[in-house]
Amino acid sequence: EKSPVTLLGLGAMGTALARTWLDAGHPLTVWNRTPSRADALVSEGAKAADGAAAAVAASSLVIVCLLDDASVGAALDGVDLTGKDLVNLTTTTPAQARARAAWAAERGARYLDGGIMAVPPMVGVPEAGGYVFYSGSRELFELHQEALAVPVGTVYVGEDAGFAALHDVALLSAMYGMFGGVAHAFALIRREDIDPSAFAPLLSGWIAAMAGPSVLQTAAQLKSGDYTTDVVSNLAMQVAGTPTFERTAAEQGVSPELIQPYFELMRRRLAVGSGEEDLTGVVDLLLK
Ligand code: NDP
Repeated sequence: EKSPVTLLGLGAMGTALARTWLDAGHPLTVWNRTPSRADALVSEGAKAADGAAAAVAASSLVIVCLLDDASVGAALDGVDLTGKDLVNLTTTTPAQARARAAWAAERGARYLDGGIMAVPPMVGVPEAGGYVFYSGSRELFELHQEALAVPVGTVYVGEDAGFAALHDVALLSAMYGMFGGVAHAFALIRREDIDPSAFAPLLSGWIAAMAGPSVLQTAAQLKSGDYTTDVVSNLAMQVAGTPTFERTAAEQGVSPELIQPYFELMRRRLAVGSGEEDLTGVVDLLLK
């Protein structure tokens, strides 16, 4: 007999999560602000609760996947959470997650925060490699490990309820930086007779080859405090190369606005650091 699960929120993500618990045989109670969004799931075996309070009362494990932190406050306003295990998969900031953990504790609930590193089509598809960062109550995480691992993988990152959101936002921030670089690269070739589809595998292969080693190298240097590079591409050489990138952008009629801020940080680091360093010193310049 699988443990009962309650899920609040049947948006694109909540609906994808719900199906995996149903498929795995967990008794599932759902609630959504707009009740009609539960209809398909009810025909697949879920129970639709009349309100959020009734949904919460149905299971000790209560999973919330709503739009934002404000919608979590709105949905659970006045609901009795005493003795509940509340798992909040709504995307928030670290500070919002910590405040929500304190809010749950005041109401007598154990709290686990989650950051979903997957899009709905990856949910229930183990080969897709999606997972959820979890932080907060370790007891809750361990007690409900089986149910939590049903939709996607799980990665527990600590007792601080804000750490899941922090890991989530850090990874997505790096992704947006990468998207910025990709946009600039496509803009450079855009006016030429170059097939973007022929260019794409070159670009994605290059990103994959560069990303892994540079991330590991940066981590090792941050830990040791020694930013000296043992490879040939030192900071002095890389700063000397920046005008080539800026001139090429100008030649191609492409705005340098995405790449220029990073080049400026590289030059600032060279001014205060050493030319023998790697690019790791840029991290320190970003700390306000
Ligand atoms: P949707 O926009 O599809 O769904 C939003 C959900 O929030 C709906 O159930 C909606 O109810 C509900 N909601 C909004 N405001 C309120 C409110 N004031 N009170 C009660 N319920 C409210 O979003 P997703 O399902 O895609 O996303 C849910 C969470 O998952 C978000 O935090 C998102 O960042 C996160 N996430 C989503 C990913 C994705 O690719 N979709 C990827 C990773 C994380 P109603 O139906 O009544 O409008």
